[in-house]
Amino acid sequence: MSRFYSYRNANLVPYTPGEQPKVLNVTKLNTNECPFPPSEKAWAFAREHIRPLNLYPEIQCIDVRRAIAELHDIEPDNIILGNGSDELLNFAFMTFCDDRRAVAYPNISYGFYPVYADLNHVPALEIPLREDFSIAPEDYFDLGRNIFIANPNAPTGMALSPDQVEEILTHNRDHVVVIDEAYVDFGGQTCIPLIKKYDNLLVIQTFSKSRSLAGGRLGFAAGDKALIADLNIIKYSTNPYNINSMTLAIGLGVLLDEETRIANCRTIMENRAYTAAELEKLGFTVLPSCANFIFAKTGAIDGKALYAKLKERGVLIRHFDKPEIWAWNRITIGTREQMDILLTNIREILEETP
Ligand code: PMP
Repeated sequence: MSRFYSYRNANLVPYTPGEQPKVLNVTKLNTNECPFPPSEKAWAFAREHIRPLNLYPEIQCIDVRRAIAELHDIEPDNIILGNGSDELLNFAFMTFCDDRRAVAYPNISYGFYPVYADLNHVPALEIPLREDFSIAPEDYFDLGRNIFIANPNAPTGMALSPDQVEEILTHNRDHVVVIDEAYVDFGGQTCIPLIKKYDNLLVIQTFSKSRSLAGGRLGFAAGDKALIADLNIIKYSTNPYNINSMTLAIGLGVLLDEETRIANCRTIMENRAYTAAELEKLGFTVLPSCANFIFAKTGAIDGKALYAKLKERGVLIRHFDKPEIWAWNRITIGTREQMDILLTNIREILEETP
């Protein structure tokens, strides 16, 4: 840290992203990307409609917001776009949380929530998951805090139903409840329809997973128009052109090709069932997942060791340095071929392990 670094963030521990190797010849199952690129139909649209790059992007992002609004039967003013959903999560902390408006989130969840809480100097309460790794809605009743929940949760993949989220909303009418639906398209149910009923609900989704655009950096938040107007104050006070013209063009192209998204999600869900069943045959415990990853452990080898041995063999999965989940690994679901490479390597590692 240089002598110029602000004292305000002296103790900030940054988020550790999953490894992003430069080479492409690894089996990359560590950061929950989609294994399929955006479709040719989406690219054709993007090429035809991209705004000249010598001009600033269209600042209101109206075409993309309108297309999302149509999909969810809401209005464009219910939507704000972000440079990835990470930016929107940070905007939500900046907009709705402070030293007097504290926050709560599960103790095992997306690793960026504690970082954004620290960055924005927001007191945070971590609510333990239940023994079976589930989130119990009643643990979030009347906390007197804003709430952030990933649904499906990461890294467990387990999901709450919209009815359960509604219970949390009714018990927190005076606080903002942020539901992070990064993985909702792989078997969860979206809570976006509830924004019409609850002015304290903000739902955040990403184009990084089911829409194949992790490299494009695009996410959106849906909520009551007043919440979205608040978020826009922060957007226009930080980076008004937060979505670049290339991403706006391919984002709209992807939105206009729902068939591809749906087909890709179906394939991922089939590959998930296949991988979970094969791992269970090998003695693994696999949590029931509604996401494009599974969370698994085996008594035969600990999570960190399995991660390291797979990495030596060119297969990347994710291990988290947290005592409660030390035994576990999070494995992104890719193509059937990628999953077979993973399974072959795991079988060989288990055979070598005394
Ligand atoms: N929420 C959760 C739960 C995630 O796992 C991720 C991906 N790391 C994100 C949000 C952020 O995704 P992105 O910024 O790519 O939209």
